[in-house]
Amino acid sequence: MARQALKPAGGESQMSIVRIALDVPIHTLFDYMVDEAVVPGQRVVVPLGRRQMIGVVMESVVSSDVPHGRIRKVLCVLNDSEPLSVGLLELLKFCSDYYHYPIGPTVISALPTRLRSDKPLVVRRDIHYRLIRDAADSLPRRKSVARRIVEMLAAHPCSLAQIKALSATAGAQLKWLEQEGWVEQCEMSGELPTPAVQFVNAHRLTMEQQQAVDAVTQSSNYGCFLLHGITGSGKTEVYVHLMNCMLQRGGQILLLVPEINLTPQLEGYFHSRFPDVPLVSLHSGLSENQRLDHWQQAQTGYAHIVLGTRLSVFAELPKLSLIIVDEEHDSSFKQQDGLRYSARDVAVFRASQRGIPIVLGSATPSLESYHNAQIGRYKLLKLSGRAKADARLPAVSCVNINQSVMTEGVSEKLMREIALRISRSEQSLLFINRRGYAPVLMCTECGWLSDCKNCAGRMVLHLADRKLRCHHCGLQLNMPTSCPSCGHAGLHPVGSGTQRVESLLQARFPDARILRVDKDSTRNKRSWQKMREKIHANEVDILVGTQMLAKGHDFPELTLVGVLGADSALYSADFRASEKLFAQLMQVAGRAGRADKAGSVLIQTAFPDHPLFRCLERHDFDEWATLLLDERRMAGFPPFVFQAMLRAEGKSESDVYTYLGKARAAAIELKCKVEVFGVVPASLARRANHVRAQLLIQAGSRKILQQFLRDWRIDEIPAPRLHCSLDIDPLEF
Ligand code: ADP
Ligand code: ZN
Ligand code: ZN
Repeated sequence: MARQALKPAGGESQMSIVRIALDVPIHTLFDYMVDEAVVPGQRVVVPLGRRQMIGVVMESVVSSDVPHGRIRKVLCVLNDSEPLSVGLLELLKFCSDYYHYPIGPTVISALPTRLRSDKPLVVRRDIHYRLIRDAADSLPRRKSVARRIVEMLAAHPCSLAQIKALSATAGAQLKWLEQEGWVEQCEMSGELPTPAVQFVNAHRLTMEQQQAVDAVTQSSNYGCFLLHGITGSGKTEVYVHLMNCMLQRGGQILLLVPEINLTPQLEGYFHSRFPDVPLVSLHSGLSENQRLDHWQQAQTGYAHIVLGTRLSVFAELPKLSLIIVDEEHDSSFKQQDGLRYSARDVAVFRASQRGIPIVLGSATPSLESYHNAQIGRYKLLKLSGRAKADARLPAVSCVNINQSVMTEGVSEKLMREIALRISRSEQSLLFINRRGYAPVLMCTECGWLSDCKNCAGRMVLHLADRKLRCHHCGLQLNMPTSCPSCGHAGLHPVGSGTQRVESLLQARFPDARILRVDKDSTRNKRSWQKMREKIHANEVDILVGTQMLAKGHDFPELTLVGVLGADSALYSADFRASEKLFAQLMQVAGRAGRADKAGSVLIQTAFPDHPLFRCLERHDFDEWATLLLDERRMAGFPPFVFQAMLRAEGKSESDVYTYLGKARAAAIELKCKVEVFGVVPASLARRANHVRAQLLIQAGSRKILQQFLRDWRIDEIPAPRLHCSLDIDPLEF
């Protein structure tokens, strides 16, 4: 997109004044002089104090509040990368306003790390390759990637980026082809050719799927669609058809997913459906160079499908024509530090700004989105059955733990069911709801518990390396052999974590192949991939895991899911805990019996009559959501009110409470139509020796809340030695 350079504004000096976003935590832009032509979105290097920094030009102005002689000069205008588009700058301004986060850090943090450096990128000449030999058949069969490269080059020369987009090993294969005399480098300039879209159409859509596709593709401008369908109802198939339609029109598609772990799997899947369409992923698991490369492929319009986690909502996409947010209810779309944005909400804004459709997909929509669909702000698209005719829903039932024989938290009934699966060579999954359910160490004599000395939480027992670890501050101690308080030798783990369940099962089923999947066992990038392969090859009998296992994986041999520790969410202080639990259980239940084998789900609970379990047994999300929404309406909770949370954290309790007290007084003084709650300790009241407290503000509409936040001016309240943050639409309490 060509943009006019900003004209030098002053007669006298041929200099113009530009306003620049810098990574400085102040709600302002910084004025500088520049004697070259610059456009908004261009990166520049400027002096600040005695440092030099990277900045992004936001606008040019004719005058400045800074006295003329004191405006400093831009040191260098960087031309190593295309400037950010006006649309992206607008989006970032919106985020800075809405989340009340300084504009500079908002803009800078949206850039790939390599573009945040004040050293210019080494500009690579865009090398192209062409085919100099023919006949792909004479390549060895096993060289499948090389064959694909040759097939691609047979049509026309391609850039290195295009070739690399084919596969992770394409770079190495290309080198091999060059050495063997198959291809050579050549010069090319101008636009990259738009690839032909070849679509592998695997299924005839069901009527509901077709209706969903039609509804979205028929809208020629902004529209937000909530695609509500249980796991296996064919949402992904709807996405694929929508993508095909937009690709045929030459558009780019942004698909947001909650987890990095899901991207490689989906990447492979979309490749198989659109073999010729360049696709890149954007997530924090990439190296800095890869991220820059992928970001630029999106920016040039070359990559037509961008698959990414929340940060990719800020990717530059000149031909963006559809956004899809998969698992839209997932709380990982919310960033929990810095700019505390919700990628889902920003995506909705981005779609409306651009005038394109957005699809939010989920088996268990967030109550916010569900409510928006009910009041007609979003359009509801429903898939009511499983897509495959022979796929049945799993049978969900509860085991009352007060009326069952239990061994270390696992009921006999569940043990028998697992044994049955082992005898049939089918897989079982034990899902442990980890919130408040990790094992801590306790003294049976004096009741001592493994409290963390820095935090208000307990240290968790890791049996494998015999350590106690605090999951909040990272403190690590060797596991004591006797009670630190009374000296008694009888220390016992209480509560149940994945490791403990794993050893219990190993003792009970010595021949079973057990696989534990949690943060500890999948720390290594490749290990999760390897584990999935093992599960698919049916080299695993029992899976033990946390949240990670619930999301978007298809294990055909899995026919039993056992759920432990569900109840902790029922009496959690967080009003969203039961909403999250239902979503999670619905998702794990969706893992059972996906193929043509019937699945069953056993939930261990002391409250088998709780509506949450009753609705789950009937697979009735709508009833559950209606119930929760009624509760929220009566209690005055979101989505019927809008919230902002001011948090403060510091070494001194009085600093923290004085600051929040002042902020509260200032809020009350404004006499706005907002509800100002009391200052209360955070749910983890102390972390790493820092006292934590919070203040909640609530309003009947976003508009009132935003007006209040602008008037509040909390930046002017002194906050010495404190770490403070304002969280709009907070998810955590
Ligand atoms: P979801 O994303 O809702 O969990 P998927 O799109 O992955 O569901 O579909 C679940 C399964 O059903 C997949 O194996 C998919 O190939 C299959 N499927 C989807 N749509 C159809 C259809 N119209 N006809 C037959 N099978 C389908
Ligand atoms: Zn003791
Ligand atoms: Zn701690």
